[in-house]
Amino acid sequence: MSEYRKDPVLNQWVLIAPEKTIPYQSIKEQIVSDNIPEFEEKCPFCTFDGKDTKILLKYNFRDQSKWDLLVIPAPNPYLKVEAELKKEGEGIYDLISGTGANEIIIESPIHNQFTHKMDLNRIEQIFWAYHDRIVDLKRDLRLEYLLFFKEFGITAENTLIHPHSKMIATTVIPEHIERELLGAEDYYSYKDRCVFCDIVKQEIKEGVRVISSNSDFVSICPYASRFPFEIWILPQKHISHFEMSSKIMFYRLADIYLDTFKRLNKVLGNVPYHMVLHNSPLQEEALEFYHWHIEVYPILNCYSAPQSGGGIFVNPVKPEDAAKALREADYQP
Ligand SMILES: [Zn+2]
Ligand SMILES: [Zn+2]
Ligand SMILES: [Zn+2]
Repeated sequence: MSEYRKDPVLNQWVLIAPEKTIPYQSIKEQIVSDNIPEFEEKCPFCTFDGKDTKILLKYNFRDQSKWDLLVIPAPNPYLKVEAELKKEGEGIYDLISGTGANEIIIESPIHNQFTHKMDLNRIEQIFWAYHDRIVDLKRDLRLEYLLFFKEFGITAENTLIHPHSKMIATTVIPEHIERELLGAEDYYSYKDRCVFCDIVKQEIKEGVRVISSNSDFVSICPYASRFPFEIWILPQKHISHFEMSSKIMFYRLADIYLDTFKRLNKVLGNVPYHMVLHNSPLQEEALEFYHWHIEVYPILNCYSAPQSGGGIFVNPVKPEDAAKALREADYQP
């Protein structure tokens, strides 16, 4: 039986329709091969020599002579820090200059070290890199938001498989975040509680949509999942800003993140996915009503017109079924 479910943050209806079939054939075609080599001579990250590139951040946590993680400016940035911030009107239209930044976080020197194959320390360092970039860029008061994301798998916008994530620093708040902020503020205004704290509490109590948890985090398939196997990872205690998280939280985040990706790999193989870090706006003080979290969307069905043009998300996999499959996945730790 299909049913509409309402997302309590976005106030958006999602149609959970198990009758709809997933195009499994296209999934198989998209899955990244297990036979990707450790080194690929055509890959710009494998052969990165640092010449002509400004290195924004470099970690060597194993061998001092080699890099382990790098943050570099994107080779063809569409936003530039040097650009003067201009806001103007063009008749009925508003225009803001493309001030900002595009950066790439090269997560590993090893070409085929996908997330589920990384060790805990590397994942923790990736999150520390996000933290360090936020702390650095926060000083530029023109910047309103840093969106960290990952596009894994061969899709039109991403032909590089080498482990990396990206960041765009913007002078506007991304629309989806703005909607989450408004929805969360609205919820707070009449319940006096953070909606994400309430989600965490209810999900842990019910358990049916929980994938796994540790003392600081829980990973779930959200009630109104827009995509099959959509995953959210949330801190259990209220915290608005990712960069305000404690040292132990980064360790436990790495722990649940690795656990979740090992489960995802066990169930769906090297499925292409998008990951985004949803954080509070850069220049805001601690917020009572918003709670940072990570969202992951495996790319399992094509973007349909009802979704792109009508805003109707049709998800053929019940979040409870997805969570059960992931929770029960028997992976090698
Ligand atoms: Zn590579
Ligand atoms: Zn909260
Ligand atoms: Zn979110």
